[in-house]
Amino acid sequence: MATALGEKIKSLIEATGPIDIAAYFAMCLGDPEHGYYLRREPFGRAGDFVTAPEVSQLFGEMIGIFMVQAWQACGSPPAVRLVELGPGRGTMMADMLRVIAHLAPQLYAGCSVHLVETSERLVERQVRTLSDHGAKIAWNARHEDVPPGFTLLVANEFFDAIPIRQFVRTGTGFRERLVGIGEDGELAFLIGAATLDGPLPPGSDTCPEGTVFEIAPAREAIMQAVAERLHDDGGVALVIDYGHLVSGLGDTLQALKDHAFDPPLAHPGEADLTSHVDFESLARAAASAGAHVVGATCQGDFLVGLGLLERAGALGAGKDNSTQESIRDAVERLAAPGPGKMGELFKAMAVAGQRVTLAPFRPAD
Ligand code: SAH
Repeated sequence: MATALGEKIKSLIEATGPIDIAAYFAMCLGDPEHGYYLRREPFGRAGDFVTAPEVSQLFGEMIGIFMVQAWQACGSPPAVRLVELGPGRGTMMADMLRVIAHLAPQLYAGCSVHLVETSERLVERQVRTLSDHGAKIAWNARHEDVPPGFTLLVANEFFDAIPIRQFVRTGTGFRERLVGIGEDGELAFLIGAATLDGPLPPGSDTCPEGTVFEIAPAREAIMQAVAERLHDDGGVALVIDYGHLVSGLGDTLQALKDHAFDPPLAHPGEADLTSHVDFESLARAAASAGAHVVGATCQGDFLVGLGLLERAGALGAGKDNSTQESIRDAVERLAAPGPGKMGELFKAMAVAGQRVTLAPFRPAD
């Protein structure tokens, strides 16, 4: 049984022919009637997945500490645009603002917060989460709509939700993977005629037929726009997501429903659809727009380097055993390597409009 969005996509394909992965991806997440982020409550135990800010307040607190450091490294400018792309339930911004108000009251007083969010349902959620901060918070549907000025920007699990295109190695080179209708009348992957013009990663001429290569022009365009702003007005952007620091081959398109992987074509609109983020291509896009890459590393090293363990110790001090244990579990989930944990799979990358060194990145990272 196809979902309501599945039926809509099938009608579209019947009328106009197979669509590329980016078009399928965009409809699954953003279709105004049936799109995943517009309809479902994705987060938390009852949703489809748990993001780092929902695991523990420690995550947003560490990001807040990073932003205070970034602000100071840029000379503590009096007026700051604090921007978040894809804020989900607003949890991370709430945790960041608490730390910022505590550690750097001047930054708190001088910043205006801009949340870039497409889902009206999630905007309502964010309004509730951030009600303590009143008129400090503004919403923008697109990053371009955020007013200019010195910027501190953060995006956690945002880029993975921006569509990608896929190409498949065939006997006649890499050809674009499309979504069409199979013999059983259901959505199916097909191989189209379009070939790939851009550069290919190492190993692409010896890999077996069927190997997938992904490109993400829409992600690069957003990164480039962010980097242009940083270059013109100054500031730092921090991107955190699951993915790889070096471009490579492989199919990473994945759907998640009720905390389990689901075939990507099985439940359009009812499962979250994402793919791993290629940080090398984002770094290239940022550099091409004149920004400097401050560094990139895995989430575990990033959080521990910022003092996660010390902060967890302080949070647990004097608390009962079960609270301390849940703090330990959260630290493990956020920072340890291995399956089901975020420490190694997730990466953090910072880019800046000016040359700055920011802990825990080393200048050569
Ligand atoms: N950062 C949050 C939520 C991650 S889910 C967390 O870590 O919990 C992805 C978020 O990006 C959601 O808020 C979703 O509505 C938003 N989003 C997806 N595509 C978007 C787009 N093109 N522009 C702005 N927001 C988008």
